Amino acid sequence: MRNKFIAGNWKMQGSLATNPALLHSVAAGAATLPTVTMAVMTPFPYLPQVQALLAGSACAWGAQDVSEEAAGAFTGEVSVAMLQDMGCRYVIVGHSERRARHGESDARVGAKARAAIEGALIPIICLGETLAQREAGETLAVVHRQLDAVLEAVGVRRMPQAVLAYEPVWAIGTGRSATPAQVQEVHAALRSRVSNADWVVGAGLQILYGGSVKPSNALELMGLPDVDGALVGGASLVADDFLDIGRAAATA
Ligand code: PEP
Repeated sequence: MRNKFIAGNWKMQGSLATNPALLHSVAAGAATLPTVTMAVMTPFPYLPQVQALLAGSACAWGAQDVSEEAAGAFTGEVSVAMLQDMGCRYVIVGHSERRARHGESDARVGAKARAAIEGALIPIICLGETLAQREAGETLAVVHRQLDAVLEAVGVRRMPQAVLAYEPVWAIGTGRSATPAQVQEVHAALRSRVSNADWVVGAGLQILYGGSVKPSNALELMGLPDVDGALVGGASLVADDFLDIGRAAATA
C-alpha cells in the first residue's frame, strides 16, 4: 500500500505578511493527518520564512523549479544545493507552466529530475497533455514520451526517489478536473510503463493527480486505485480547503 502525498503548489503567490497564518494552519492540520504526507511548494524568496516556520512541523516544503546545473554563470537560476540550504525536501520539475512559458523540453525536465535526485531532493515530475492533444487522441503517447525522457535521464532504479504528477494542462487552474475514468486510465498507463522496466519500482511508484483538485472532488479522485495523492494549486492557498483534501486522502 502506497502512502498518500498531498503537495501544494503556491505558484507566484503569497507574501511575507500573509504566509505565516496559512503556514501555521496547514502545519497544525498536517499534524492531525499522520498517514498523509503534506508539503507546500512556495516561491523561492519565501523559503527562508517557510523553513523558519515549518521546521520541526508535520508539513514539509519545497520549491517550484530548480536548475539542472550545479553552480556558475546561470543568471536567475537556483541550484539543488541552494534548495538544500533552505531545508527543502521536494522540488517540482516540468510543471506545464514552465514547459509552455520557458520552453522546457522533455530532456531538460529529465536533467532537472536527475540533478534533484543526485542532490537528495525528491523531484515531483509533472507531465500531461494539452486539450488539443487529448482531443486528437494523443494523451497516452504524450505522457509516455514525457515519462520516457525522465526514465532515460534518471534510470528506473532511481525512480523510487521521485514522484510523478499527472497534470492535464486543460485541467490546471480551470476548475475543470479530469474525470475519475480519465485520471485512472493515465495513471495506470504510467505505472504500467514503469513496471515494464522494473515491476517492483512500478508497483511502488507514487503518482499524484493535479488539475483543479478541491474538497468536493478529492475523495473520489484520491480513492482511485492508481492515485497516490494530489498536486494542488489554487486550493493549497486556502488552509481549510488544502486540509480537507488531506483528510480526503486519509480516508480514501
Ligand atoms: C497546479 O498548480 O499544478 C495545479 C494543479 O493547479 P490547480 O489545482 O489550481 O488546478
